[in-house]
Amino acid sequence: MKVIVTGGAGFIGSAVVRYIIEQTNDDVLVIDKLTYAGNLESLDNVSEDKRYRFKQIDICDRNALDTAILEFCPDVIMHLAAESHVDRSIDNPAAFIETNVIGTYTLLESTLAYWRTLDENKQANFRFHHISTDEVYGDLHGTNDLFTEKTPYSPSSPYSASKASSDHLVRAWNRTFGLPTIITNCSNNYGPYHFPEKLIPLMILNALEGKPLPVYGNGQQIRDWLYVEDHARALYLVATKAKIGETYNIGGHNEQKNIDVVNLICDLLEELFPNKPQGINHYKDLITYVTDRPGHDQRYAIDASKIYQDLGWKPQETFETGMRKTVLWYLKNKDWCERIKDGSYARSRQGIIK
Ligand code: NAD
Repeated sequence: MKVIVTGGAGFIGSAVVRYIIEQTNDDVLVIDKLTYAGNLESLDNVSEDKRYRFKQIDICDRNALDTAILEFCPDVIMHLAAESHVDRSIDNPAAFIETNVIGTYTLLESTLAYWRTLDENKQANFRFHHISTDEVYGDLHGTNDLFTEKTPYSPSSPYSASKASSDHLVRAWNRTFGLPTIITNCSNNYGPYHFPEKLIPLMILNALEGKPLPVYGNGQQIRDWLYVEDHARALYLVATKAKIGETYNIGGHNEQKNIDVVNLICDLLEELFPNKPQGINHYKDLITYVTDRPGHDQRYAIDASKIYQDLGWKPQETFETGMRKTVLWYLKNKDWCERIKDGSYARSRQGIIK
């Protein structure tokens, strides 16, 4: 198969690309604008493979998309390109509307034009897989409910509202134009190559530098965590096996309070890296409560029973095994983190874009 992965230089996209190159015989074309969140160094392990290609394209650029898609002739498009950080969506919503809404619309139009050129058999086998978030469902605060595929949309932040919009567009292009689409909505991911502004890598890296560990509000917000490689495996399964028009929720039944996540990171670091920065007795002493994020959702939790039953997918990592792997990865890959912090990951792109 030939698979286009948009956003393939990002956290989850790069895990999907590594999975496809390492575990299948498929060809991959990564389409990525390389915003601050795109890092080609996350693809170093696979970038020399003959089945891997990369094009620096903004998904809002229709002409560039048309050319790349027609040239590559994909069987599947996995759409992960997005602005993804909630705090940034509060500071600057415009980029989220631009990429997540207009970009998804532009990609759908380009894909539809390509799909219409295919013969009947290829049309029937083609899939457009839109990767989305459980945040479109809003907040489960004060209930024991879980998000199912039928939960009504009720997004809270500019990020989740823009992702909800993109989900609606994808369903409309299926219903109105017959484009064979599938949507997945996943809970919070964690694991290797996660950009250091997100909760888990931020806490690991701050702790190692003896910096404060900033916890929003009282730290009681609940997230349902999934190891990124489990997500990548689920996405490939859905892209290749799910029925057209389906939606799948993906999650690990791993509800954790933010403060418990931070405490676990501190405990793992005490064990795996006891050599603390000068003047620090316990990593937990670095925990600092800061003003809560506006509109902060209190609880997310996924009912993933549909993908378990229909496609036989289950996460392989527990939160404990996944977190241990993650902390070890950040300890072993300080260079990757350093190059993000000092900006050299972006400056080096000129040399590695093929
Ligand atoms: P990320 O921010 O790490 O990566 C996004 C990638 O998209 C980057 O490589 C960036 O350069 C690229 N990109 C941004 N704007 C673009 C544009 N206009 N054109 C082309 N490329 C562009 O995000 P992530 O955490 O890997 O998330 C990937 C997808 O999964 C997103 O759609 C997100 O909504 C969804 N998702 C993420 C999580 C999570 O916990 N991270 C959970 C559920 C769903």
